[in-house]
Amino acid sequence: MNEERFARLADLCAAQGVRIAWVDLSPQRHGQYKRRDRLIELNRTLVLRQLVPVLAHEYAHFVHDDACSTIAAERRAWEYAARMLITPADYARAERVVGPHPNAIAAELDLTAVIVRAWRRQHRAAGHEKGPGLDDLALLLTCARGDLNPHALSDTGT
Ligand SMILES: [Zn+2]
Repeated sequence: MNEERFARLADLCAAQGVRIAWVDLSPQRHGQYKRRDRLIELNRTLVLRQLVPVLAHEYAHFVHDDACSTIAAERRAWEYAARMLITPADYARAERVVGPHPNAIAAELDLTAVIVRAWRRQHRAAGHEKGPGLDDLALLLTCARGDLNPHALSDTGT
């Protein structure tokens, strides 16, 4: 499933003239979008289950022409990536099978919990469920700590 997802994302990047490169990044950095070079760099140590969400996330930065990494830009990129990768039917089926825990749903969908949480957030924001949850806080803390945040924008201009 992820081979297919990755191939679709790679095609999408190619169609938009966005190049993908495999590079050595620090372990906590999974990928980055270099806006000036129209280039997505992916950490060569990642496995496919990690690569797919990261590539979708970096592609979302391209789509939104994000020039700097803010909490809002990161959330938007994760939510966009989640919508690219998970349909409402996929999510509903996975939750029926394994219950509501994000890690279990992520395993069922062969994706990461970060993507599952982002999917829930955008689903709630679309008015299907009320109120902020602990998931949002968890993601913010994750981003603030810098780990599991598979991206850093390298050309923010220093
Ligand atoms: Zn990002």
